[in-house]
Amino acid sequence: MSNAPQAASQTLAPATPFYKPQGNEVELFQHAFKHQLPMLIKGPTGCGKTRFINYMAAQLGRPVYTVACHDDLTAADLVGRHLIGENGTYWSDGPLTRAVREGAICYLDEVVEARKDTTVVLHPLTDDRRILPIERTGEILHAPPEFMLVVSYNPGYQNLLKGMKPSTRQRFVAARFDFPSSDLEQEVIIGETGIDTATAKRLVNLANSLRALKDHDLEEAASTRLLVYTATLILGGYDPVEACRAAMVEPLTDDDETTAALMEIVQIAF
Ligand code: ADP
Repeated sequence: MSNAPQAASQTLAPATPFYKPQGNEVELFQHAFKHQLPMLIKGPTGCGKTRFINYMAAQLGRPVYTVACHDDLTAADLVGRHLIGENGTYWSDGPLTRAVREGAICYLDEVVEARKDTTVVLHPLTDDRRILPIERTGEILHAPPEFMLVVSYNPGYQNLLKGMKPSTRQRFVAARFDFPSSDLEQEVIIGETGIDTATAKRLVNLANSLRALKDHDLEEAASTRLLVYTATLILGGYDPVEACRAAMVEPLTDDDETTAALMEIVQIAF
C-alpha cells in the first residue's frame, strides 16, 4: 500500500489543439481506433507525438490519460493500488484502469523506460481479449470499443537492453514520426507562436544546420519544441541570438567547446 502520486495527467477532450499532420498518421489513427487496434508511435523527442495524440483524442471526442513512463513505474502505477484514507483503505484506479472504464485513450509516453513487468499488464489489453485483469481486487475489466492504448518511444534513446520486447511490439500498429520537413516545420512554428515567416524560416534553417551536427557533437538534435520556445522568446522581445542560446543551444549540450561552435552557427543565422 502506498500513497505514491501517480505520474499521470488527464486531458478531457479539449477544443482541438493545433496540429499539422506529417503524413497519413491521422488516417492511420482513425482506422486503428475504429478497429480497436493499439498504436505505437516512434520518433525523436519534441517532434509532435504528444500533440498528435491530443489532437486525435479531441477529433474523436475521447479523453486522454497520459503517463510519462520511467524506470520506477510499476504495474500498480498504471492499474491502481489500495490507498489509506480517513476511513481505512480504499482502492484507487490507476490511469490505465480509468481509461479502460471510461473508454478513453491511454497514452504511455516513453514506454521503453518502464520496467518489463509493467508492460506485461498491457498484453491482455492489446490482443483480441481486450481485458484488464486487476489482480488485487479480482476484477476483470472488458475494454469498451472507445478504449485505445497508444504508446510511444524514441528509438534514439534506446540501447539493446531497453528496446521493446518483440512480443510486446508485435501487438501494435506502428507509425514513425520525424522532425517535419522545413516547410511544415515553418508552418508549425508560425501556427504555434504567430511569429513572422522570415524569422520562422531562419529558425528552421538554423535547426537544420544544428541537426546536421547530431551524432558528431550532439546526442540529441534540436526539436520542433525547442524551435517553438525560441520563437516564443523572440516574439516576446528577447534578443534573437540570446533566445537561440537559451532555447536551442544550452538545452542540447553542457560542453563549452560545443556550445561555442553552436553559437557560431547561431550568429551566422541571425
Ligand atoms: P513529443 O511528444 O514528440 O516529445 P510534442 O508533441 O510535445 O513532442 O511536441 C512538442 C511541441 O512541438 C508541441 O508542443 C508543439 O508546439 C510543437 N509541434 C511539433 N510538431 C507539431 C505539429 N505537427 N503540429 C503542431 N505542433 C507541433
